Amino acid sequence: MKPQRILVVGAGHVGLYAALRLSRKLKAREAEVIVVDPQPHMTYQPFLPEAAAGSIAPRHAVVPLRRELRRCTILAGEVTSVEHARRTATVQPIVGPPREVEYDHIVLVPGSVSRTLPIAGLRENAIGFKTLGEAIYLRNRVLDQLDVAATTSDPATRARALTFVFIGGGYAGIEALAEMEDMARDALRYYPELRPDQMHWVLVEATQRVLPEVDPDMGAYTVQQLLKRNLDIRLGTRLESCVDGVVKLSDGDSFAADTIVWTAGVKAHPILARTDLPRDAKGRLTCLATLQVTGPEERPVEGAWSAGDCAAVPDLTKEPGVLCGPSAQHAVRQAARLADNLVATIRGRAATPYRHKYAGSVASLGLHKGVAQVYGIKLRGLPAWFMHRTYHLSRIPSWNRRIRVLIDWSLALFLRREVVSLGELHTPRESFTEVTPPVAL
Ligand SMILES: Cc1cc2nc3c(=O)[nH]c(=O)nc-3n(C[C@H](O)[C@H](O)[C@H](O)COP(=O)(O)OP(=O)(O)OC[C@H]3O[C@@H](n4cnc5c(N)ncnc54)[C@H](O)[C@@H]3O)c2cc1C
Repeated sequence: MKPQRILVVGAGHVGLYAALRLSRKLKAREAEVIVVDPQPHMTYQPFLPEAAAGSIAPRHAVVPLRRELRRCTILAGEVTSVEHARRTATVQPIVGPPREVEYDHIVLVPGSVSRTLPIAGLRENAIGFKTLGEAIYLRNRVLDQLDVAATTSDPATRARALTFVFIGGGYAGIEALAEMEDMARDALRYYPELRPDQMHWVLVEATQRVLPEVDPDMGAYTVQQLLKRNLDIRLGTRLESCVDGVVKLSDGDSFAADTIVWTAGVKAHPILARTDLPRDAKGRLTCLATLQVTGPEERPVEGAWSAGDCAAVPDLTKEPGVLCGPSAQHAVRQAARLADNLVATIRGRAATPYRHKYAGSVASLGLHKGVAQVYGIKLRGLPAWFMHRTYHLSRIPSWNRRIRVLIDWSLALFLRREVVSLGELHTPRESFTEVTPPVAL
């Protein structure tokens, strides 16, 4: 029999783990695994706040695909459409014309993108917090703003530079806000011109609570901790506009801010709309608990698999109709189940439904501060922070990354964390073009 071709679209939490397992379990005569992703690495997103805060080197928060997926074929590019009826995906490689790739099975796992709203000024003035690029940009931005504030003699410019607004109080928003504030406060020891109380860190959250992943008392504890640090927490408040960096809130307040970060949730990746596979009202691929894509008649669409943030997967540990939430915890476990089910299908065996009771959440609120609720056990402060670190250290793929992250943390214990901005990385050609005269052609 000809080897089956498995096309994995997206090498994130699901894609990397699934491809790794498939390539280990299946013999070359059974299947070949092709992985397509525009990035040369998987990003371990739960480490983005620590990478932004300088506790982990950015390179150590990612896992290189070619190093980890040696038995797979890696295609650096983006899938732009899928015609499952023809078992064909169109791939736009990073260079050259688009090409069609045929497959027998597709594992369509491009994850999610920031869920934004049509708010005036948002597109021009805000940034998301989902990619390594965004996290490192934000780090450099915050540190650059300290320099602006320390140098200017204009109080309005200083106030604007020192105002940092985060919209959305889920774990991404809370961790990003808390880690960045902690880093900026740490950095201020080198800025005798500035005082911590001049910084204005604002969280804007539309509902009445933060961290919906944990019980309300843990969310309330988190708010208390942030208030103690003088953060400005606006619950039940929405961003109305931010034209030219002037933030207008639904509570009537308005102020200028140079840094606006959008962390108000995610939605399924828009590429799914350019496929002929069934989706739900929120644009996610509808899946059976076996992680096979399914239509309204609840029969598997042969050869189509999905999981993670872009998939609507029933949560069998809850009442009927409840879906698994978008989390790394589900993503990596679903990846293993998906790979095992695909192997079983190729070998003519039955697929097993995915079942995992959500264990809870761990969140870091800056160095030595955290909140955690795991299997009903609630931890606060240092123990929660320690649990956050040990949990994520155990989950990031490969020993290579674990050791590097551990070394980063250990070095920071003795040498303090690095708080220098490398903002020039964002405009690397500026100094060269300045000294190179233009030549008319
Ligand atoms: C800041 C932050 C902190 C988080 N912290 C936690 C946490 O503490 N605990 C937790 O459980 N979860 C956390 N999450 C959520 C978790 O990271 C996601 O739920 C998880 O990454 C989903 O995995 P995925 O494989 O579906 O998507 P991803 O991991 O996002 O992977 C998607 C992949 O698809 C690729 N891709 C996209 N489009 C295409 C295309 N057209 N063609 C080819 N490839 C494509 C992308 O480049 C990416 O590599 C956090 C998320 C963020 C942003």
